[in-house]
Amino acid sequence: MISLTNIHKTFGKQEVLKGIDLTVEQGDVVAILGPSGSGKTTLLRCVNFLERADEGKVQISGLTVDCEHARKHDIVQLRRKTAMVFQHYNLFKHKTVLDNVTEGLIVAQKVPKADAKARALRVLEQVGLAAKVNEYPSMLSGGQQQRVGIARALALNPEVILFDEPTSALDPELVGEVLAVIRSIAQQGITMVVVTHEMGFAREVANRVIFMDGGVIVEEGTPEDIFVRPKQERTRQFLSRYS
Ligand code: ADP
Repeated sequence: MISLTNIHKTFGKQEVLKGIDLTVEQGDVVAILGPSGSGKTTLLRCVNFLERADEGKVQISGLTVDCEHARKHDIVQLRRKTAMVFQHYNLFKHKTVLDNVTEGLIVAQKVPKADAKARALRVLEQVGLAAKVNEYPSMLSGGQQQRVGIARALALNPEVILFDEPTSALDPELVGEVLAVIRSIAQQGITMVVVTHEMGFAREVANRVIFMDGGVIVEEGTPEDIFVRPKQERTRQFLSRYS
């Protein structure tokens, strides 16, 4: 369903992605692991052109875009197939929880307001925030704010949800509630790519695990392949820091 081919990205003189190939099947939950600075976030952002790769192709459910030559129209089309959940939530501070979720539907997808509201209420219920719809982000805990971020992504009904370290800005006691919501979404069969440092979560929820280091995919496999019998020394070293 998603296919990345030969993705290269350089910032200044630093080659951050060195020719990444990756395919994601419908319903996959793919966890991307790796040390800080290995290019995980940049790769995720290249999927929806928040960063434009210098070279390579991004394909999502039938639409193939050449990164170097992509036109605005292609990028808009591609973005419609994705939704992103950010590390720092990226909510509109001056909008209510409900309006944060309906905004993208009304403005980008041109969904009629009443329909957008109905859809937003449904997904907010799903993430356990039905009681908070009229509050502002500043009234919520970090975990609740991130659940709004997840509801906003879900409401767009995307082909894939891209999670960029969704729990790394949270206090430890709030991580569990957010992971529980992501787990419940995964169980609905929604395709997800999750950059994370939560090894337990990756092991339990992902069906495929990618280990990146230095701008390349060092190793990929099932959670068992990666966590129980990693083949590469670099993977073993990385994982040993978490056990
Ligand atoms: P990871 O998610 O694995 O921690 P990143 O993709 O965030 O890695 O970053 C990989 C490298 O690219 C880092 O060295 C980072 O400093 C650099 N980098 C990321 N974004 C930019 C940018 N917009 N401008 C310059 N350098 C960047």
